[in-house]
Amino acid sequence: MIKEEKIEFTAKWCKYSKYNIEKKDDKFYIVADKNAIPSTYDPFEIRNQILKDLLVIGKESVGNNIFKLGDKKITIEAQSKMEEFQKIVLEFVSNYGLLGNFRYLPENYDFMDNGDIPVNLGYNTSISALEFEKKYFWKDSKIDWSKTMKSNDYHRNTGLDDYFKQTEGDRLDDIIFSKNYTETISEIIDFATTIYNIKLLICAYLYDDVSDDIKEIYKNSITSHSLKKCNISYGIENKQIKFKWNFMSLSEIIETILLLNETSGRTEVKLCKHCGKPFIAKNIKAEYDTIQCRNRENINKSRQKKNNFIE
Ligand SMILES: [Zn+2]
Repeated sequence: MIKEEKIEFTAKWCKYSKYNIEKKDDKFYIVADKNAIPSTYDPFEIRNQILKDLLVIGKESVGNNIFKLGDKKITIEAQSKMEEFQKIVLEFVSNYGLLGNFRYLPENYDFMDNGDIPVNLGYNTSISALEFEKKYFWKDSKIDWSKTMKSNDYHRNTGLDDYFKQTEGDRLDDIIFSKNYTETISEIIDFATTIYNIKLLICAYLYDDVSDDIKEIYKNSITSHSLKKCNISYGIENKQIKFKWNFMSLSEIIETILLLNETSGRTEVKLCKHCGKPFIAKNIKAEYDTIQCRNRENINKSRQKKNNFIE
C-alpha cells in the first residue's frame, strides 16, 4: 500500500549490540555498553513488530495494579524500578534502539545554540536547557556541567573528533546515537502508555457495541491527538520530486507506524477483543490473538443472550 502511493521513507535507526541498565540519582537509565557495536536498520521493514512490542509495554503499564493508585507519573516512576518492567524495556531497546527523545521532546532546537532558552517539552512543561542536556548526556564525563553543552561537546558526542569516533554508516554520527546518550526506563514506559492509550481509544471507537454518544467522546480524543513532529520535506531522486519523511526519533517513527496501521485499510497490529493483548494479525479480519480467546468470547456472548432472554 505504501509503495503504491510512492511515499518515500528515509527512516534509518541506530541500535547497539548491547545495552545495560545503570542507576543514577534514584533513576534507572538504559546505556549502550562500553564495547557495544552500532548498526543501522530500517524500522519500516519490521514496523508491525516494533508497534506490537511497544504496545505490550503500554498494556503492562496501564494494566498493572499500581497504575490505579493515582498519578500516572508517580506510577510509571515506581514501575521503572520494578524488575519485570526493566526487563521488557531493556529487551525493547536491545531490539530497536533508544527512542531519540532528545530530538523528539523539545518544541524547538534553539537551545542547542543558546543555552539560556528553556526547552519546551510540550504539555505545558518546560525545563532549562542545561537540565535537559544533562539528563541525556550525563555519561559524558568531559562536559563541564556548570554551563550548557558547547559545540565542542556536541562534536565529541557526534563522533566528529577522535575522542568518540563512530564506525561508518548512515546517521551513525548523529548525536542521539552517541554512546554517551542515555534514556530513562520511565520515559520509555511513558511513551508506550501514550501510544497504547491511543490504540485503545481507536479500538473502542470502532467497537460495534458502543453508543453514538460515547463514540463522539472517543472521536474527540482521537482527533485531538496530533503527531508531535512531522519533518516532511521534498525529496528529489532521478529528477523526480517525491514526498519525503525524515525521521529524527524512533518515537515519531512509531507514531507514524500507528497512524498508517490504523488508516491504511489494513490494520495488522491489533488488540485482542477478549484479553486486550496486542498481536500481529496474520488474517486481516482476525479479532482475537488465540483460538482460546475467540471461544471464550463466544461463550460470553451466548451467556449474555441467555441472560437477556431470562430478563
Ligand atoms: Zn486474547
